[in-house]
Amino acid sequence: MNTVEQDSIDIEAELNFAIDTSALHLHYQPTVDLQTGLVVGAEALLRWQHPIHGRIPPAVLIPVAEKSDLIVRLGEWIIKQVCKDIAHWNMAGLTPPCIAINISPIQLQSNDFNNRLSGILESMTVTPDKVSLEITEQILMYRSDSIDKAFSDFKKQGFILALDDFGTGYSALSYLKHYPFDYVKIDQSFVQELPHNLDDASITRAVISMAHSLGIKVIAEGVETEAQCKFLSDNMCDQIQGHFFAKPLSSEHMQLFLQEKPFLDKHLLRLGKPDR
Ligand code: C2E
Ligand code: MG
Ligand code: MG
Ligand code: MG
Repeated sequence: MNTVEQDSIDIEAELNFAIDTSALHLHYQPTVDLQTGLVVGAEALLRWQHPIHGRIPPAVLIPVAEKSDLIVRLGEWIIKQVCKDIAHWNMAGLTPPCIAINISPIQLQSNDFNNRLSGILESMTVTPDKVSLEITEQILMYRSDSIDKAFSDFKKQGFILALDDFGTGYSALSYLKHYPFDYVKIDQSFVQELPHNLDDASITRAVISMAHSLGIKVIAEGVETEAQCKFLSDNMCDQIQGHFFAKPLSSEHMQLFLQEKPFLDKHLLRLGKPDR
């Protein structure tokens, strides 16, 4: 893996090739509402199974793709694949929840991104309200008129917007006022040591309260334990995502998951299935 990481040229060339092969996949990680216990979303996460180097994580490959135009082609592949999976689940008679797609800041600033995104969705008859766009705080570094326009166009087009990895980068409260985010996702680094780390507990409570006062909902990432889940539920966090409820699932497993409709029993804090 080390040699692969160092040799970004190789990753770039191989990734370029992999886009046209079946080496790339999307996994889907469900998000659950803490009020109702129901699955309300799922995040698409890129997976690359390299024939020699094995699984290459997105944290390695996305930055390489971002150094070139490859992120634009890769990003379009991801959007199309999400639309295909949504169509497939619809055809199977299932109702997929809103699917979150991670959008790289470089991709977002690429030529005509909004029109190409809505063009792909239209051609695959997926409506924008079925898709949430996750954008990390990195985007705030590039603040410009074209980004402001992209955000206001997203809203006009009806996309749901989430600020990802909140608290790790350039977070300034004014950004939450400036951009029309529907959700903030509290980064897993603040969640990991809940509830015993008092600093993280205070930060989490403050983020939830501030977001709510601005009319923004909060999703906590990387929730692994019942104690974390209970803390977040007690403190009015809206949704959780993490191994406690479900790991990222292949599209086939996501389909089974949608069929079984598991939910979070918030009183007992365990997974359950509806009576029907
Ligand atoms: P992210 O968008 O914040 O995604 C959440 C990450 O947390 C995912 O890592 C997920 O597998 C991991 N995770 C989920 N639940 C748990 C948990 O309970 N415990 C722990 N320790 N981790 C958990 P992953 O899939 O490795 O992705 C890492 C990052 O790479 C993502 O962070 C996102 O920024 C980026 N990424 C992934 N897929 C894509 C993609 O399709 N496009 C773009 N542009 N970026 C992507
Ligand atoms: Mg994300
Ligand atoms: Mg995140
Ligand atoms: Mg992250």
